[in-house]
Amino acid sequence: MHDTHEGIVFFVTSDFSGLVRGRGVPARNLPAFLETGCGWVPADQAINAFDVIGEGNPFGSSGDLRLMPDPATEVRIAGNAGRPPWHFFLADIQSLDGAPWSCCARGFLKAALADLEQRFGLGLSVAFEHEFTLLGDPAPAPGFSMRAFRRQETLVTAIASALRAAGAAPEMILPEFGPGQFEITLPPAPALTAADRAVVFREVVRDVAERQGSRATFAPKIRPEGVGNGVHIHLSLNDSKGRPVTYDADGPGELSAPAAAFAAGVLRHADALVALTAPSVVSYLRLKPHHWATAFACLGRQNREATIRICPRARAGGDPAAGHHLEYRAADATASPYLALGALVRAGLAGLAENLPAPPLVDTDPAELDAAECERLGVRPLPASLAAALDALAADKVAMTWAAPDFWACYLAMKRSEWAGLADYDHVALCDAYSRVY
Ligand code: GLU
Ligand code: MG
Repeated sequence: MHDTHEGIVFFVTSDFSGLVRGRGVPARNLPAFLETGCGWVPADQAINAFDVIGEGNPFGSSGDLRLMPDPATEVRIAGNAGRPPWHFFLADIQSLDGAPWSCCARGFLKAALADLEQRFGLGLSVAFEHEFTLLGDPAPAPGFSMRAFRRQETLVTAIASALRAAGAAPEMILPEFGPGQFEITLPPAPALTAADRAVVFREVVRDVAERQGSRATFAPKIRPEGVGNGVHIHLSLNDSKGRPVTYDADGPGELSAPAAAFAAGVLRHADALVALTAPSVVSYLRLKPHHWATAFACLGRQNREATIRICPRARAGGDPAAGHHLEYRAADATASPYLALGALVRAGLAGLAENLPAPPLVDTDPAELDAAECERLGVRPLPASLAAALDALAADKVAMTWAAPDFWACYLAMKRSEWAGLADYDHVALCDAYSRVY
């Protein structure tokens, strides 16, 4: 048995690349480290998915920061089979004077949520729905089938227990459409908690699979012609008393005025948003028509090709306001949950600030609309590549006010280095490369 004093506790940050990086401290010194945090380096934020430091990032080789663990995020999973317990904290990044660092992804989300609360008295309840693929299944079973579930039941059950132990207990687990593909939804939680759990979720799923001699990947595409792994972000607005305020029986799509304005802001900034929510070269193999992902910026009722799907409550009867919510579908797990959600909140806030009306409802596959219909419904294609999305982000003057200039300089340099580094890859090589990392 390992007692706590033998162990190492990790302090981690979900960084701009959507990966989790950090440092370990001896468990025996944890109380002191909880006070002081541990060291961190600004240029770490500019490391892309393939461990290249983005050229032109604003930091270079100088500067010092602190990774400050948030005690509310402690995860401790009992060890077994000779392994010590797995013990870590999610951290905020601070400057040496203790102020939040302007380029901390978690800080970006926190600031956006604080604005939503202060300016509009609104809170946000969020549920992350992740898809991933268990690789190496020799004989894939039919999509959604019980056979597909039974084939992976041992592993999936171990994943579910580890998630429960990590404080990110699943709501639902299902075999998805693709070979070896699974979906796990986490129940709704206050936005920051939901994002924290999404970070933990991905680490736990990959770790448990690896322990069992398997491999789980969240890459948005495993094979160019296959189905994608999406992350759908479910959003519901609450008032200051925590009551849901997304529903209005008389609103278009039964959306309340604030929910409609929020959705309109998200769609207005969708081209910039995807640079943060679908932030990999391979993300754009998924954001194609007819993938149930979304390729056109639009809002639809129960429409799985729309960027935002209005989801109905689970069943008739009861309070219609409970459960009615928005689902953003243009995200994948190459995005940090903090950046993806923080950017969604910022875009929603922009819609609220202008009191934008509800966007037109698109209830068919937008790829089937002709040009005149697209014009009438305000439907436009989303950027078709990471490079185009990054250009749209850099050109969105409102988005550039959502964070400090260094934040954007770092993000754009890091992501552009990722794009440039993969310039020679064909689609198969892209899928393989991202499957290995995410
Ligand atoms: N796999 C689809 C995606 O890439 C989503 C399928 C579903 O509606 O759950 O987003
Ligand atoms: Mg799914």
